[in-house]
Formats: sequence, C-alpha cells, structure tokens
Amino acid sequence: MHPAIVIEALEKTFQGNRRVLDIASLTVMPGEMVAIIGASGSGKSTLLRHLSGLARADRGGTNRIVVNGRCVQQRGHIARDVRQIRAGIGFVFQQFNLVGRLPVLTNVLAGALSRLPLWRTLPGWFPECEQERAHQALKRVGIEELSQQRASTLSGGQQQRAAIARALVQGAQVILADEPIASLDPESSRRVMQTLADLNRQDGITVLVSLHQVDVAMQFCRRIVALRHGRVVFDGAPSELTTGVLSEVY
Ligand code: ADP
Ligand code: MG
Repeated sequence: MHPAIVIEALEKTFQGNRRVLDIASLTVMPGEMVAIIGASGSGKSTLLRHLSGLARADRGGTNRIVVNGRCVQQRGHIARDVRQIRAGIGFVFQQFNLVGRLPVLTNVLAGALSRLPLWRTLPGWFPECEQERAHQALKRVGIEELSQQRASTLSGGQQQRAAIARALVQGAQVILADEPIASLDPESSRRVMQTLADLNRQDGITVLVSLHQVDVAMQFCRRIVALRHGRVVFDGAPSELTTGVLSEVY
C-alpha cells in the first residue's frame, strides 16, 4: 500500500530568515486520521498549505511532498500538474469558505467542478447525477434538509458540515482540515469531528486535521503529531502523550 502523504526533509523559511517548518520525515498511510497539534504559530497551517502546493518550500535540499502517490512539490518547485493532484485533496477551513449568498446545494455541487471535464461544467451539460451525489453527501453529513437554504443562514457547525460535503462530492481521498472547529461551540465541534471520523472509518478517507485543543485530538484521532516552532516534537498514540510533551508544546 502506498502512503497517502509523504513528507521528506521539508524546510520553509519566510523572509527575515525565520525557519517556520523543519520536518525531517512524516508519512501518513491511507485510512489514517491524524491530528496536528501545536501552539498558535507552530506551523500547522503552513504545513497543510505545503501539502496542497499552495505554499512552496525552500529551494534546495530534498524538500519533497507526495500526496496520493503523486509529487506535489520537490526542491521548491511545485508540480506542473498540481491542479490535478489537488482534485484528490479536500479542504476544510476554519472559516468554512462557502459562498454565503448561494444555496447549500450549489456550494456542495461546486466540489464537482474540479473533477468534471471542462465541457461538462457548461450550462446545460452539467450532469444531473451530480445533484444526486450532492444530496447524498448532504445526507451523509446530516444536513440534507438544509440543501435549499442560503449557506449564510446556517450555523457555523452546519456550514462546516456543508464544507465537508463539498469535499465528498469532489471525491477527495485525503481531507486536510485546518482548525475546522476553532470557531465552533463544543457541541458543534463534536459533531464536525464525528463527521470527519465517520468518513475516515467508513469511507477510508485519510484525514489530517489541525487542532488547537489536545483533548479533542485525543478523543478523535489515533495518532497525534505535535509541532513546536515547525518541528515535530511528538508523533504517536494519544496514550503516549505525556504531560512533559504537552508542556513542551504549549
Ligand atoms: P499555526 O497555524 O500553527 O498557528 P502558521 O503556520 O500560521 O501557524 O504560522 C507559522 C509561522 O509562520 C508563524 O510564525 C507565522 O507568523 C509565520 N508565517 C506564516 N505565514 C507567513 C507569511 N506569509 N509570511 C511570513 N511569515 C509567515
Ligand atoms: Mg493556523
């Protein structure tokens, strides 16, 4: 089985010479659900952006990232076919990134755009089966009854589940979620995390989720990777996470 994600010798320095990522090696197998924890500024978002080729690593060195068996970037060069690779990666953001004035269903259908050939996205040619697929995805995340409402009228937790449904319609094999529950109340947070965990367990979708809260990471993920100043200071099961490690991380 090929790994879902491989990171080799990833280094990122922003201007001003501050090294914000320095990861010797990190591998995630298909079907894993991994939490990335770390204090604010530890590099969680920057790491996730590198995985999708939205950020470019330093030139030189190995600096290699492979997702779904395809090289996203190497030695500071983003792959030419990064858009195709990205089609297999679903994103879930802290601020949901839905188009608020459009119906939930339309937002979820947008997930199909990266998967369909160009001519299929033209008016009159958009496949009807995609609507069915979008309804199924909304049912899956438990908000099918909200499909005709404008996205902006949904609660934060509902919007986040719509964003997850969009990733499902996209057909993502890997979901990268960057602090998806940071702006949600505890009950909405639990439901969003449970939705991600269900997709991981039942559909085998690989989930990499950055979280500020250690307790949530321990509850939902069998593997936790902790970052401090862009370095991996812990990688293991929740049961191995000692107070010593935690005091180093936060
Ligand atoms: P986290 O998501 O864990 O809070 P980030 O990945 O957002 O951390 O940030 C890691 C570090 O990189 C921080 O010190 C931040 O200030 C810095 N950083 C992030 N983006 C940029 C940028 N575009 N330019 C300069 N520094 C940046
Ligand atoms: Mg962040």
